Formats: sequence, C-alpha cells, structure tokens
Amino acid sequence: MNCFDCTQEQKNVPAVAICCHCGTGICAGHMLLSTEEVHHEVGTGPAWGKRSARRATCRTCGGAEHEGPAA
Ligand SMILES: [Zn+2]
Ligand SMILES: [Zn+2]
Repeated sequence: MNCFDCTQEQKNVPAVAICCHCGTGICAGHMLLSTEEVHHEVGTGPAWGKRSARRATCRTCGGAEHEGPAA
C-alpha cells in the first residue's frame, strides 16, 4: 500500500502505517503519532493497563482531532 496523501500529490511512497480512523495508508511524512489515555466510562472491569495507547493517524484525521473546539 502506498501513502494516500502522497498519491494525491502524484507520488508513490510506501505507507509505514495505517490511519486508525479512515484506514488509509500513510508515510512517515504524513503520519501523525499521538498517544491517548484509555478511559473507562463504566465499571465493566479493567480492560486496559495504565499505559497510553499509541495511535497513528493521517494528517486529515489527526488535524481534525487535535484542533477541536477553540480553547
Ligand atoms: Zn505521504
Ligand atoms: Zn485518516
């Protein structure tokens, strides 16, 4: 799979990750890496440890998430 964003720019760059939101392939240059704390909203028992999860997203999805409502 090639990076989706690079493909839009007529370039063929192998993807190194998959966007966890939209599922497109992303190269290192277009990848946004972040961590997220895992929240437990209801007491269904401990499902995750206390470590943060790593998430890779494309810039479109990552940007949309991180901008959010104006603080
Ligand atoms: Zn790319
Ligand atoms: Zn995405």
